[in-house]
Formats: sequence, structure tokens, C-alpha cells
Amino acid sequence: MSIADNLSTILNEIPKDVSLVAVSKTKPIEDLQAAYDAGQRIFGENKIQEMTTKWEVLPKDIQWHMIGNVQSNKVKYMAPYVALIHGVDRAKLITEINKQAIKNDRIIDCLLQVHIAQESTKFGLNETELNEIIERQLTNPFPNIRIVGLMGMATFTTDSNQIKQEFAFLKSLYNKSSAQLNSINTLSMGMSGDYGLAIEAGSNMIRVGSKIFGERNY
Ligand SMILES: *Cc1c(COP(=O)(O)O)cnc(C)c1O
Repeated sequence: MSIADNLSTILNEIPKDVSLVAVSKTKPIEDLQAAYDAGQRIFGENKIQEMTTKWEVLPKDIQWHMIGNVQSNKVKYMAPYVALIHGVDRAKLITEINKQAIKNDRIIDCLLQVHIAQESTKFGLNETELNEIIERQLTNPFPNIRIVGLMGMATFTTDSNQIKQEFAFLKSLYNKSSAQLNSINTLSMGMSGDYGLAIEAGSNMIRVGSKIFGERNY
């Protein structure tokens, strides 16, 4: 199966109102170009340097999503062009993104990443921290940041009941947050192995890598 075939299989399977982020981390430019030629315009990367190198050479109508853990001191490299930052997990990072957005005369869209998995290696806010950030954005908003939704990763397990529970929990937080903050309309959950369950649970943005580009060799 080619990259174009993989993309069309997935697009035929998911509802039209669910956005597909093609997760291209570690993959060479030719693979991204093949997906682009098949019509894909949203790409997800988890390293700022790698994303910036790809942004420099690929067509400028691509929307670049940062899906990884973001170091504050690297925000400046993606601030001129990044379309959506999925991994916002601390107040200090929001301050830095806002600062770099101001320098670039932009408003940068962000998702708040919530920790829903059992693995401690996965990162994200707990419910209290999430509420604090939303409260802050309601009362004293960062002017150059738009919080457009929530993101989460389920536990890596074959137990689909566990995955369903974690997605349902994130969906409940999403419902509460979107009732508070008007700008919230995006729920980013679901990857190659679990996007079906994620969409059933209410996801409207899935991040799919290996099912489009094949397994990654690190
Ligand atoms: C790598 C990655 C994905 C894609 O994973 P696949 O299993 O290859 O689809 C999705 N989300 C995040 C945050 C990732 O780091």
C-alpha cells in the first residue's frame, strides 16, 4: 500500500468533521511530499528542529502541528509558522508561547494536553491544573494565545475498555472546558491503534502516523 492509498483508506473511514493530522515524525521529505500530493495539508511533528527543517523545504500551505513535549527555549523557532501546538502542559510554557507570538505579531492556537494514561512517561495536566489554566484564560487572558481545545493520549494497551474509559474522561473534561471557554472546539485524541475508539468517544482530531507512513525506525 502506498502513502496515498493509506490516506484514502483512513479518510473514507472517518467522519468528514474529524480532522486528520498526518504524523510524519522521523519520516523523510519524500514521504511528506507524497502525502501532500495526495491532498494532505496537516502534518504533525514532535521535534521543533525537525519540523522547522521540513517547513523550510515543503509547500507553504501546509499546517504544521507540534504534537510533542515542548521545551520553552525552542518555542521561538516555530513561533513564526506553527499552526497548532498540541502539547501545552504548563503555565510557564503558555507565557513563553504568548511572548513569542507577540514578537511574530501572531495569535498562536494551542491545545492543553491532559494526562489520561497510566504511564507516567506520558505527560500532561491533571484536572486541577487544567482548571487553573482555563480560569486564568477567562479572567486574565494571554492576548496572543488562543486555547482551542484539549489533547490526550490513552494508555498503550490491548484493553479497549481501559482506552474507552480514558477517552470518555477526556471527553467529559472537554465538555466542561468548552462550556467555559468559547474558543474551545477541538478534541485531539486517537492515534493509529485507537482512533476508532477515540472518534466513538467524541474526538474531532486524530493524529495518525504509522498507519499512513509505515512503522518508524528510530
Ligand atoms: C507519534 C505520535 C502519534 C502517532 O502515532 P502512531 O501510532 O504512529 O499513529 C500521535 N500522537 C503523538 C503525540 C505522537 O507522539
